[in-house]
Amino acid sequence: MTDLPSSITLSKLGQNQLLYFDVTEKTPWGRELLEELNELHDQEVRIEAPAGNSMNANLELERKHSTKLGDHLLIHADLEARYTTTCIRCLVPMEESLKLSFDACAINQEFANEPEHKDQATVYIEDMERELYFFENNHVDIKEIMHEQMFLTKNPLPLHSDDCKGLCQICGTNLNHESCIHMRN
Ligand SMILES: [Zn+2]
Ligand SMILES: [Zn+2]
Repeated sequence: MTDLPSSITLSKLGQNQLLYFDVTEKTPWGRELLEELNELHDQEVRIEAPAGNSMNANLELERKHSTKLGDHLLIHADLEARYTTTCIRCLVPMEESLKLSFDACAINQEFANEPEHKDQATVYIEDMERELYFFENNHVDIKEIMHEQMFLTKNPLPLHSDDCKGLCQICGTNLNHESCIHMRN
């Protein structure tokens, strides 16, 4: 298995050649992606990724060329991650999972201002609606694309339990375990 660099040089890929890569918590920037997920809900405290956290992504990359768009890259990704975050109510560390599949296309930055692509999040290409990204200088930032897709998909409001009572707004007592004088009113 070849390690995929976080940013790839388009011209180094064969034309119309399908390439498969695995990105996991054991590969350098797979680990970074997992750590970025882990620090989400409390930016001031970085949560170390515990042993049970994991990430497994299968990526399919295909360099294509068309007269209209020149060189571009098609990306298909299937991804699953288990990461650690904090409950939004009581701030206790908890495990969350994330599962997503996406199809994206990276086209040259020089098309970014064309009416067809300007302010668009997707592009219809090769019979499919795909997330639209741009690359500059022949470099496609795969990690950044995955990062964005993961952050768009992850649960924005993690709760360690549906009936979490949270913290007292005044004294900070964890009301799942204790009560405080402020709760009487
Ligand atoms: Zn909670
Ligand atoms: Zn209180």
